[in-house]
Amino acid sequence: MRKFLIAGNWKMNKNYDEALQLARAIQQRAVNEKKINIGVFVPAPYLREMSLESPDLIVGAQNIYWEQYGAFTGEISPPMLRSLGISWTLIGHSERRALFGETDEDVNRKTVAALKHCFFPIVCVGETLSQREKKTTLDIIGKQVKELFYEIPADMARSVTVAYEPVWAIGTGKTATPDDAEEVHAYIRMIITSLYGREISDEVRILYGGSVKPSNAASLLKMRNVDGALIGGASLNKEDFISICDTAVSIDKREGK
Ligand code: PEP
Repeated sequence: MRKFLIAGNWKMNKNYDEALQLARAIQQRAVNEKKINIGVFVPAPYLREMSLESPDLIVGAQNIYWEQYGAFTGEISPPMLRSLGISWTLIGHSERRALFGETDEDVNRKTVAALKHCFFPIVCVGETLSQREKKTTLDIIGKQVKELFYEIPADMARSVTVAYEPVWAIGTGKTATPDDAEEVHAYIRMIITSLYGREISDEVRILYGGSVKPSNAASLLKMRNVDGALIGGASLNKEDFISICDTAVSIDKREGK
C-alpha cells in the first residue's frame, strides 16, 4: 500500500512570521499522524527553521541545482541542502519550466544529482492546454517521464515521487476530472513499469496537482493511481490544507477501487 503524501508548495509566498505560523499549525496536525505523510515545500530562506520546528512534517526545497559548489550565483546545491537537514525537493515544477527555462534535460540532471545525494525528489510533469486540446497529453507526459528517469538506476528510481500537474490546472481553479487524472497516472505508472518492473512501479507515488482544494480532493484521491496531492494555493490556508489532509486520512483504498 502506498501511503498518501499531501504536500504544500508555498511558492514565493508568506513572510517569515506568516510562514512560521502556518508551519506550526500544520506541524500540530501532523503529530501522531501515521496514515499519511504531510509535507511543505517552503521558500529557501525558511528551510532550516521550518525543518527544526516541524519534526513530523516533510520539509523540502522548491528547487535544487545539479552542481555541488562553484560559480553558480543564486543556485542551491544538494550538499548545501543536506547540510541544513533537508532531504526532499521539488524538481521541474511547471513554473520553473515556463518562467526559468528548465528543460527535460535539466530536470533529469537535477533528479540525478538529488538522488546521488540521497534526496527524495518530487518531479513534476504536465501538459499545456494546447497540448491537451491537440490530444497529445499522453505523448508529452510519456516523453517527460522517460526523460526524467534517463540513466537513473532502479535502486534510485524507487525514491522518486512523480507529480502530474496539468499546466492548465495550476492556479487557475480548473481541475482535471478524476477520470482524466487517473488515465494519466495509470499511464505514468505503466511507463515506470516498462522501465523498472512492477515491484518498483508499485512503490513510486504519483501525486496529482492543479487546483486541488477541499471540495475536490476526495474525488481525486479516491482514484486508484492517485497517491496524494501537490497543492499550491490551498496550501497557504491552514484550514484548507488541513481539511485536505483529513480527507486523505478518511479514504481507504483497500475497500472498493
Ligand atoms: C502547484 O503549484 O504545484 C499547484 C498545484 O498549484 P495550485 O494548487 O494553486 O493549482
